[in-house]
Amino acid sequence: MSDIPKDHPRYASLMTRERIVEGVDIGITSQQGLVAQGRGECFDYLVGERTTTSAFFAEKVAVCMLLLAEYPILSVNGNAAALVPESLVELSEMVGAPLEVNLFHRSDERVARIISHLKQKGASEVLGGKGDARLSLDHGRAIVDSDGIYKADVVLVPLEDGDRCQKLVDMGKTVIAIDLNPMSRTSRTASVTIVDNVVRALGNMVGLATELKELTPFEIKNIIKEYDNERTLSEAVREIRDGLDTIIMDSEVRHDPY
Ligand code: ATP
Ligand code: MG
Repeated sequence: MSDIPKDHPRYASLMTRERIVEGVDIGITSQQGLVAQGRGECFDYLVGERTTTSAFFAEKVAVCMLLLAEYPILSVNGNAAALVPESLVELSEMVGAPLEVNLFHRSDERVARIISHLKQKGASEVLGGKGDARLSLDHGRAIVDSDGIYKADVVLVPLEDGDRCQKLVDMGKTVIAIDLNPMSRTSRTASVTIVDNVVRALGNMVGLATELKELTPFEIKNIIKEYDNERTLSEAVREIRDGLDTIIMDSEVRHDPY
């Protein structure tokens, strides 16, 4: 990894970038994953590289849904495996949701490498190696495990592509997406969209799970009832717009001749 000084103003963002590059170096992240990360960084800049109030509520609702699910699954792609393997393992244990490797640019080698990477981080079992069921899509994301994503009722998909998200929703599943772009097809299609960096989102969700595990199913259902995905996405766009407005206003104040 490059030597980034801890007091660098963009330390967290640069370290995230380093982890993705390392993921490519060790063969768990695809080169396309670097481009996806770049798009994410741009939106992260726009939301102020912080968890907004609406994103935090979406994270809370997501944990509630995972806790209440009969057969929840955490889908893991090459970027998530590089960025948040420890948090994925922790969340998986806390909410009782197995991990399943699912890749757009799928190869048996990369699936095996990600499974062993997650196991090194403490996962006891990781699905995705069997690939014995299909979603009707024409890319690698279609290949799933019959006792995993195929039969799941709630699926967490960090960094999803829009068409598989749509397919999972069409199959009647509750889909929780983590996507910094509130305008992507994934964000618009998911049941719950967390507009936050996957690094912050997973960290928050692990913390929330400790707290929410203590609630009764009735209390958990009441939290879920409050949720509206369209409202969450509008709030994310509003946060971005307000941030940009502040920049414009600041520059107008500086240039005010009176
Ligand atoms: P869609 O089909 O949903 O419109 P897309 O083509 O916009 O997808 P992809 O390239 O499929 O996007 O996936 C990248 C998505 O993941 C982008 O929307 C990007 O903002 C998001 N993303 C990338 N890195 C992160 C990250 N670290 N945390 C959260 N979201 C991220
Ligand atoms: Mg997307």
